[in-house]
Amino acid sequence: MNYPKNLLQSVVFLDRDGVINRDSPDYIKNWDEFEFLPGSLEAIRHLTLNGFVSIIITNQSAVNRRIMSKQDLETIHEKMKNAVKSCGGEIRDVFFCPHMPEDQCNCRKPKPGLILRAQKVYRIDLRSACMIGDSAKDIECARKAGCALAVLVQTGDWVKAENILKEKNLCPDYVATDLYEASKWIVGLRSLKRPNFVPDERTMPYRIK
Ligand SMILES: [Mg+2]
Repeated sequence: MNYPKNLLQSVVFLDRDGVINRDSPDYIKNWDEFEFLPGSLEAIRHLTLNGFVSIIITNQSAVNRRIMSKQDLETIHEKMKNAVKSCGGEIRDVFFCPHMPEDQCNCRKPKPGLILRAQKVYRIDLRSACMIGDSAKDIECARKAGCALAVLVQTGDWVKAENILKEKNLCPDYVATDLYEASKWIVGLRSLKRPNFVPDERTMPYRIK
């Protein structure tokens, strides 16, 4: 297969809540409520130092629910990026969907709009990109966008995610206990391109017999 030249390779799309920071049913409305999950800062650093580009892809409907302003959200993201930077990692950008489900947008995950927007801005080769998330929406979004790989982490409501994935006949390529383990798995692959990929045995329960 011929790959177009000058496309950004080895991009890792990260969901935010339940992956980088602890999720909350009441939304994360300010920096005081933002708590990094154990190992997530180290994970982003590990990805950065090994040449992977981290971009956040996140649903933040609290904005359109008028629970928080867009400015509040951007302030959280600035502080998050600075904290990651002070630990030696880099978040290249944050793409968020402010809409509610009833807004009928095309960017709220599991729709692929945010990833496709990031792809246009950074000229990303999705065939060498990976999405890491804690919900079924993240895995479905990765599949719809055409990412090479999708990783499920067990730091959110992972039982719910597992049930929805089974219902939808969707299968992550790898299941990691947390973002740090996911980052070690990704760095350990020789390439994110699917032809080199060997499924992990822990994803086998998802596979359709
Ligand atoms: Mg999440």
